Amino acid sequence: MTKVVTTVAELRAAKALLKPARIGMVPTMGALHDGHVSLVTEARKHADHVVVSIFVNPTQFAPGEDFDAYPRTLEADLKKLGDAAAIVFAPTAREMYPEGFATTVTVGGPSAGLETNFRPHFFAGVATAVAKLLIAALPDIAVFGEKDYQQLLVVKRLVRDLDLPIRVIGAPTLREADGLALSSRNAYLSADERKIATLLNIILTDTIATARSSDLRAAEATAIEALWKAGFSHVDYVAIRDAESMDHITALERPARILAAAKVGKTRLIDNMAI
Ligand code: AMP
Repeated sequence: MTKVVTTVAELRAAKALLKPARIGMVPTMGALHDGHVSLVTEARKHADHVVVSIFVNPTQFAPGEDFDAYPRTLEADLKKLGDAAAIVFAPTAREMYPEGFATTVTVGGPSAGLETNFRPHFFAGVATAVAKLLIAALPDIAVFGEKDYQQLLVVKRLVRDLDLPIRVIGAPTLREADGLALSSRNAYLSADERKIATLLNIILTDTIATARSSDLRAAEATAIEALWKAGFSHVDYVAIRDAESMDHITALERPARILAAAKVGKTRLIDNMAI
């Protein structure tokens, strides 16, 4: 039976009952899909019990973004998890940010550019919430998706820099049969938008092939043009970066990553792949 707790004190008490055991953690914003479940499955390979947190973190949304519209489906989420999670931590915003809360965790390094250019407060919001969640649960391992690749690197840096005794594990992106990365935000897409959305992954796959035999900036520019032509309503970026640091690169000499963000209608999608 999954124990559902809403306060840090309850979480720590529930976790104490599981001891001695290796604890894994999977932080999420809920509206769970098979991608989230694959992270829990991965966590279970490295841990005896898994804590899943479900928290739609207000501080990582800018005014005008989809904080209010973001799906909140706790009952369905608990069903989706079945008994894969020993504990679900679903705190309120008040529990996470009580009156007088005045601390922000800011990570440099891999947070520069890309998402930060379009969502300047995003990673401080993520890092502050993730730091609090990890410190609340103090798991042995925590699993984050490569789907949010820049975020994964930011979380790894945060954990390293703050000496949190937690191993951060990146897990591969789960995709629909047509290649679209599973995302809670896919629920916003109309049938027509869904058809356009699938082209994001196809264009990134094509761009990887182009990048192997051409200038990287030219390959990025071709991809951006292809996304506009495919019907995306806005292309925020397509970028080929060093896979470990997110640094700019001019040649494919070390592991690289192609990352993109684009809007279909009002829905912002992100995706990335290894090169
Ligand atoms: P979110 O609920 O969107 O904040 O995501 C929670 C965790 O699930 C993050 O570590 C994401 O990277 C991960 N995630 C989201 N979508 C996928 C996917 N399609 N495959 C694997 N992991 C995912």
